[in-house]
Amino acid sequence: MRNRTLPLGYRTENGAVVITDSEAEIVKTIFTQYGNGTSLKELVGLLNEQNIEFKQNAVPWNKGRVYHILTDSRYTGEKNFPQIITVDVFEKVNRLKNSKGGNKKELSETVSCLKKLMFCGKCGGKLLRNANGRWSCANGCAFHRRPTDEMLLSAIAEIIEKANRLPELLSVAHKDTGYKQTPEIMRLTNEMARMNEQMIPSFNTGKAILFRLAASKFAACKEDKSVYTEYVSEQVKCAAISQAIDKEFLQNAVQKILIVGKDEYEMVFVNGAVVSNKAVAENAS
Ligand SMILES: [Zn+2]
Repeated sequence: MRNRTLPLGYRTENGAVVITDSEAEIVKTIFTQYGNGTSLKELVGLLNEQNIEFKQNAVPWNKGRVYHILTDSRYTGEKNFPQIITVDVFEKVNRLKNSKGGNKKELSETVSCLKKLMFCGKCGGKLLRNANGRWSCANGCAFHRRPTDEMLLSAIAEIIEKANRLPELLSVAHKDTGYKQTPEIMRLTNEMARMNEQMIPSFNTGKAILFRLAASKFAACKEDKSVYTEYVSEQVKCAAISQAIDKEFLQNAVQKILIVGKDEYEMVFVNGAVVSNKAVAENAS
């Protein structure tokens, strides 16, 4: 947990941000290598190969994490951070990065995922993204202002950060998965029993009844989503550490995202847990 909000290369000492030399060397290496034409993917490979640690207990390096370092202007001395990277190098690297278009491609992949996940919290309808990149309810519900991609992404980042900080929000009650007898199940069971009592039972009729019985019983069972909680927690942890919202996270861990009010969103995870960005936004302002 500690230092998690500080970029790699820094720590606090007596309330002041200071440079951690060993980490600053890693940051410099990342900028130098990328500036020399090493791709994000190759950089991730190099860092993991050399067993370079990204803060304690962190999962291995990934593209999102390297990307985040390359775009963090605090390394140039912004916002009162001690300088690790010169403005020249930073700008050169970011020009190179933008020219590769990786950012745009990643954003558009994320946005196409969001198109499947975004719903209106008022009416349950889909959220649609118009040509100007603004999102609105398909049924016209009003939310003070139509969010942009950036607003959605920052709300999602807030939710990830909050869920990672307060993992108990991700736990859901274990549900009873047993099924209740329905009239259909009882009727088919009786039909089965009657047929077995016949002198010459028909195989085809018996098979048909058996399949209908199995389907009815299956339909009566409710899936217990709480079994996915551990998986969701792990995905949230990875997303929080990498500080990148990638399509894998959205596809695997998130069932849907609701807009519920002005700048207020709820994320429904695949295990059924619901986390909103509200409290975080209040604390941050
Ligand atoms: Zn609506």
